[in-house]
Amino acid sequence: MERVQIIDLSVPIQKTPPGSPLKVDIEYIDHKQGVKIFGPIFGLKDGDFPDGNFSAVEKLTLTTHSGTHLDAPWHYWPTSGGKPSRTIDEIPLEWCYSDGVVLDVTHKKAGEEIDIADFERALEKIEYTLKPFDIVLVMTGAAKYYGKANYPQMHAGTTRESTLWLVNQGIKVMGIDAWGWDKPFNDMVNDVREGRKEKLWAAHFAGKEKEYCHIENLTNLEKIPRPYGFKVAVFPIKIEHAGGGWVRAVAIIDM
Ligand SMILES: [Zn+2]
Repeated sequence: MERVQIIDLSVPIQKTPPGSPLKVDIEYIDHKQGVKIFGPIFGLKDGDFPDGNFSAVEKLTLTTHSGTHLDAPWHYWPTSGGKPSRTIDEIPLEWCYSDGVVLDVTHKKAGEEIDIADFERALEKIEYTLKPFDIVLVMTGAAKYYGKANYPQMHAGTTRESTLWLVNQGIKVMGIDAWGWDKPFNDMVNDVREGRKEKLWAAHFAGKEKEYCHIENLTNLEKIPRPYGFKVAVFPIKIEHAGGGWVRAVAIIDM
């Protein structure tokens, strides 16, 4: 059997991490509570279950944009390229399993913009040329702040132009090791207050023009042993009519 190394690029779904504006609640129902909840449904008494135990189950309250997740064009705008935007259940799975490439932009500071030149330089450094359907993983280094109160503000973000630059080379799925594909909200709000309205969510809104998906809250990109020459799988949970879906993002490396 061929052996592969699999690197987990996902953060856990967990009760609201510090600093997260998106609340997550997980109600854990243990084996004893499982008896109390499911016994009456099946018409069984407590004593009918072995040692008073039955199934442990969890109930979650969260958005589709918690944890490591894939954004579908519907999240950005009702239409994409003049057609109704695809929802997460409509994303071709072929887009979600492909050759991966890590673009190192760790020199960019929090709040800065990752522009086309940054992507060009990152590609030059690793001597790689993008090809259609590559999954582009943008490494900002912000994942190290995951779980800290300042995490949503600690990354550089892409722009409308740099996003479309990738899309125009046939990239359908791209991702970032940070809270958002765009720069942090506080920086975008400052832009808007200072009259640069076009900066608000500009990279997400690029999806109005051309169809693409991005992954947010990636982690462990620095653990992938080479910048290309590996596969990435990011199949989203199939949520009907949704703008996003949680993914177990992984890098797959042939040994
Ligand atoms: Zn999202």
